[in-house]
Amino acid sequence: MQIMEYIESLTDVCGIADLNKDNKKLIKTYGKDICKYPYAIVIGHKMNEDIIETIPLTYNDDKLAKKYNDEYYNSHKRASNIAKKINNYIQNEGYDGIILDVSGKSDEINLKQSFSNKASAHIAGVGWLGKNNLLTTKEFGPRLTWVTILTNAPLGEYTGVEMESLCDECTLCVNACPGNAIVDLPDPSKSYSPEKCGKYIMSRRDEGHPMACGMCLYICPYGNNKSRKILEK
Ligand code: SF4
Ligand code: SF4
Repeated sequence: MQIMEYIESLTDVCGIADLNKDNKKLIKTYGKDICKYPYAIVIGHKMNEDIIETIPLTYNDDKLAKKYNDEYYNSHKRASNIAKKINNYIQNEGYDGIILDVSGKSDEINLKQSFSNKASAHIAGVGWLGKNNLLTTKEFGPRLTWVTILTNAPLGEYTGVEMESLCDECTLCVNACPGNAIVDLPDPSKSYSPEKCGKYIMSRRDEGHPMACGMCLYICPYGNNKSRKILEK
């Protein structure tokens, strides 16, 4: 089986980012090791749909909030296992690979800060950073977990180009965020406040609830047919 075919067989969304192209910003942010290999394999793994659909109920139901929180971490583990299989496959084919898992770290390279898997997904053109600062895909919205493999496997023919935001006039996450952490601006570095988001989630913890809030992930019309219908009215 070809490497790309194998990657596609294990992932819900995947893409290849060319890290040699326009890499000055990446190197400035993460250091030169981020470009140790020319390509990044971007792995998107879907979170459990049934659990995602319960998110609006989690604010009044601690059991459901805990279940969502568990799924958040379990999806990370599943994504890491997929990345390990793909990396083994690549190495068996005679190439090198370094996994940057959900935490954005690897012992094999020296990065100035944890890698944002959203960055490689954006460069690979598999989605855009929404106003909620989540990597959003056309098919599944932000309901995915991301892992990256840096590699020298010859994947040049599969590289994508950065995608423009499709948020446009949508403000569903802006209006639904219980922490008032999202404002209606096109640039996610300005529209999303990690401080306000964190403050809200901590306030839930201080009130004795599980640390879970995923309204911005749930409500996005990309991945949520109910929201999509509201937007199209
Ligand atoms: S996780 Fe919750 S508080 Fe944070 S941005 Fe999303 S909806 Fe707002
Ligand atoms: S809910 Fe709307 S504004 Fe928010 S990320 Fe999704 S498409 Fe963009």
